[in-house]
Amino acid sequence: MNELPIDARFRDSDTGELIANCLVCNKELVKSQSEYFVERIFRRLPKLGIVEPIFEYAMCSSCAETMRKQLSKDSLMKIEAYFMENLQVHANAHSNTENCLMTGNSIESSAEFSFHAHCKGDQMLQSIFPYAISNQAMEEISQLLSPETIDELDRFKGKYFNGPPELAEILNSRRFVPL
Ligand SMILES: [Zn+2]
Repeated sequence: MNELPIDARFRDSDTGELIANCLVCNKELVKSQSEYFVERIFRRLPKLGIVEPIFEYAMCSSCAETMRKQLSKDSLMKIEAYFMENLQVHANAHSNTENCLMTGNSIESSAEFSFHAHCKGDQMLQSIFPYAISNQAMEEISQLLSPETIDELDRFKGKYFNGPPELAEILNSRRFVPL
């Protein structure tokens, strides 16, 4: 698998540094050359002409796997089917963050969006990752989730969101669904 150094899109927006610890288990990820995922969630404030990070975190592959297991099988199957179906439609949306992986729409036209990378140490692994998910795709994915899965994601957000309270209200807990 090709690798590239982790670029600014997947770094801590305050410090510009790599996000070096797992949100859930706090394991060190960069020096230990671990495999992990980075998600950064943004909203666009068109009147101010700015893009604001709402939340950004890294999760080690073991915690990501544990989280998947906590979600209902029904939700996971539906998400997988949604992914496969939309990937085929927007095949050339692979591996970039300019267009939504699922809808193919420009991220510049998305009011809220997330960036996803699969990393190892200080490198990003190039596969279907890195990619972007628009709020439109997120709404479609939300409709596939069982009530049990939504409860689980709400609990996860309550436990691990560590940003300012005003952003807690904005952050959609569905964003934590493992994609
Ligand atoms: Zn972890």
